[in-house]
Amino acid sequence: MEPIVEAVQLCKTFQLGEVAIEVLKDINLTIRQGEFVSIMGPSGSGKSTLLYLLGGLDKPTSGSIKIRGRELSVMRDREESVMRRRDLGFIFQFYNLIPNLNVEENIMLPILLDGRSLKLEKGKLERILEEVGLADRRYHTPRELSGGQQQRVAIARALVNEPDLILADEPIGNLDSRTGTEIMKLLQRINREHRKTILQVTHSQEAAGYGDRIIQVRDGKVWEGHDEASA
Ligand code: ADP
Ligand code: MG
Repeated sequence: MEPIVEAVQLCKTFQLGEVAIEVLKDINLTIRQGEFVSIMGPSGSGKSTLLYLLGGLDKPTSGSIKIRGRELSVMRDREESVMRRRDLGFIFQFYNLIPNLNVEENIMLPILLDGRSLKLEKGKLERILEEVGLADRRYHTPRELSGGQQQRVAIARALVNEPDLILADEPIGNLDSRTGTEIMKLLQRINREHRKTILQVTHSQEAAGYGDRIIQVRDGKVWEGHDEASA
């Protein structure tokens, strides 16, 4: 399958005053269309940093990132933010919903930000609510929902622009194990039936088991497969 994300010689250093923290050193990786890939590794190893770089939420110190063959660094700011909104969906550990908007408004936010008419997208909203199992919760606010339901809203919001690629940072990291399994099954269905490429960061072997392959991050480097240290 065609590459959807390609990183070449990716480096990221955070400068904290005098101190340089070299988090990612010369990373090369390719994610192909339709894959479900898990990024694993110790806490603080740079998993979130890698995910955010690949989604254009942060900029590398050096190296290249291409999304569907288009180099991120040469995109203009506006082009890049449109690309992020239309081609990528993000899911976070703590859901990142807007507390004073209801379920339906949170889901439709990317459409609003894109300046499109909510009316025209009503059918889509109903399909997505059905898909994530929230048809009877559309007027609730996040505070009135369980963690699992809030993550379903976040997943619906990530899907609303029909992006090809979904990036998820510890999507079940804040959920109990039964709810986590439900969310993983939903993500698996989105990958298999809706043919979305999914790149997730996870600590959980079980969650990684829903994916096709694992990328390990440690000491600034990446490699494929299960962690050598814990094997
Ligand atoms: P992980 O997700 O694997 O736990 P992160 O990618 O969040 O790790 O962080 C990797 C390292 O980079 C950590 O040492 C962290 O403190 C540092 N780091 C992450 N983001 C920043 C930032 N914005 N400024 C400075 N240091 C950062
Ligand atoms: Mg992290």
